[in-house]
Amino acid sequence: MTEFAARVEGISISGIREVFEAAGEDAINLGLGQPDFPTPDHARSAAVEAIQSGKADAYTSNKGTESLREAISTAYDRDHGIDVDPGNVIATTGGSEALHLAVEAHVDPGQEVIFPDPGFVSYDALTRLADGVPTPVPLREDLTLDPATVEEAITEDTAAFVVNSPANPTGAVQSEADIREFARIADEHDVLCISDEVYEHIVFEGEHHSPIEYAESDNVVVVGACSKTYSMTGWRLGWVTGSNRRVERMLRVHQYMQACASAPAQYAAEAALTGPREPVEEMVTAFEERRDVVLDGLEDAGLEVPRPSGAFYVMPKVPDGWVDELIDSGVVAVPGDAFGANGAGYARLSYATGMEELKEALEIIGDVTARVQ
Ligand code: PLP
Repeated sequence: MTEFAARVEGISISGIREVFEAAGEDAINLGLGQPDFPTPDHARSAAVEAIQSGKADAYTSNKGTESLREAISTAYDRDHGIDVDPGNVIATTGGSEALHLAVEAHVDPGQEVIFPDPGFVSYDALTRLADGVPTPVPLREDLTLDPATVEEAITEDTAAFVVNSPANPTGAVQSEADIREFARIADEHDVLCISDEVYEHIVFEGEHHSPIEYAESDNVVVVGACSKTYSMTGWRLGWVTGSNRRVERMLRVHQYMQACASAPAQYAAEAALTGPREPVEEMVTAFEERRDVVLDGLEDAGLEVPRPSGAFYVMPKVPDGWVDELIDSGVVAVPGDAFGANGAGYARLSYATGMEELKEALEIIGDVTARVQ
């Protein structure tokens, strides 16, 4: 009889879904990992036009249309002053596929991948799917990743380390000094840095920086996506970029897994990247206002909460039983250990929810925290 592959048996469905299912239909959902804004009209219209004109009917080049890759390159220069060759970009099915390509192309069986704990759930699972060894490392008290912790975890068997700034689930943004350190570590240890930058535009204080700006070697690959910046999680459009030889290896995987990213989504993404910036600016302003309200509310409730500077998550320390009690009281949060063992004792709250609901949720959080000590 055909059994299941050991690498699939070694992973499980993310615990986040279970939380949603446990909550009632009327619950206020602070568990969501997607912006509550519409995809900008110009992106939607570009997809409709591409579909109706027939230009989205066929496969695109494996890497994605030239005009999309040029739009991605122009956006890196415009937004961060980063030089990206459009020839070294692969348009992918969301940031998720981009992460998969980065891991699959660089990690041999038995090699270690270092990643933040708590961290985004895919890093562990993708490492296992490549028969690699997940190597989670703890965060600082402020929930940023200390480059020294990463450097200490590197062994002869390390293939890669993941940096995620701004981060899910913490909302933490790494300082420029840290980002420089990650680049130095990638250079000096000759280890790949996979920089997951899908929240690159949702930064409230300071600026976004990428290790690819500072690395002297080609040991950095950058993962990006339209999902969060343009509120396009359903479109499934991301990308990965790096040096020519790294992109060529990742393209081998992409070519046989996907052939190319969905053509209508590629046209929508191009319009999102090249179109007016107001929708992004308005969304980021709204997130920042909500972040401030949520931080005040959590502190008033007596919770200790590191101040996040980006994305749309906050991770307070919570007493035992707090998340269950909160869900029973009609507010969904995700227990921190859904993001790694070191997330125990924390909860992730997403503020990708309207202000009125957030305020209501904060009142309930105040009551629940007073009850569960
Ligand atoms: N990386 C991080 C840190 C994320 O939070 C997510 C989605 O939640 C992704 C990657 C995947 O993004 P996408 O929806 O574009 O596949």
